[in-house]
Amino acid sequence: MASSAACIFCKIVKGDIPSFKLFESDKVFAFLDINPLSKGHALVIPKHHGAKLSDIPDDSLAALLPVVKKLVLATGAEDYNVLQNNGRIAHQEVDHVHFHMIPKPNEKEGMGISWPQQKTDMDGLKVLLAEIKSKM
Ligand code: AMP
Ligand code: ZN
Repeated sequence: MASSAACIFCKIVKGDIPSFKLFESDKVFAFLDINPLSKGHALVIPKHHGAKLSDIPDDSLAALLPVVKKLVLATGAEDYNVLQNNGRIAHQEVDHVHFHMIPKPNEKEGMGISWPQQKTDMDGLKVLLAEIKSKM
């Protein structure tokens, strides 16, 4: 299992740093966020160390979302956001992949979202589609 000695979340997985553990399996670890945006805000991480989503093997990635779902059901959250940040300007502070499960109990608590939609057109989308698909 790849891990990084300097990584705070790897230390949590190993038990070197305490956490409020919610769930653990061979590939996944989940715990309460220490600075929650709302009651029940939790983090679900692969045990495999990697900074960004694209650094994590598919089998570990596939194991993560069912645990997010478990936490949604266990917290009883009706409205919630699932968030996974990659890179500093995308608001990532801890360089070990983590999915946030953030209950949204009301307008004030939980995640606030800015959604700066850009204008495009059919031709622009067609060119973009071809470009991305050619690399898949
Ligand atoms: P991000 O901005 O997506 O990298 O989010 C990092 C999250 O990790 C933040 O919500 C922090 O509150 C949380 N966090 C950082 N250190 C710990 C820790 N030791 N235990 C629990 N949560 C933590
Ligand atoms: Zn790590």
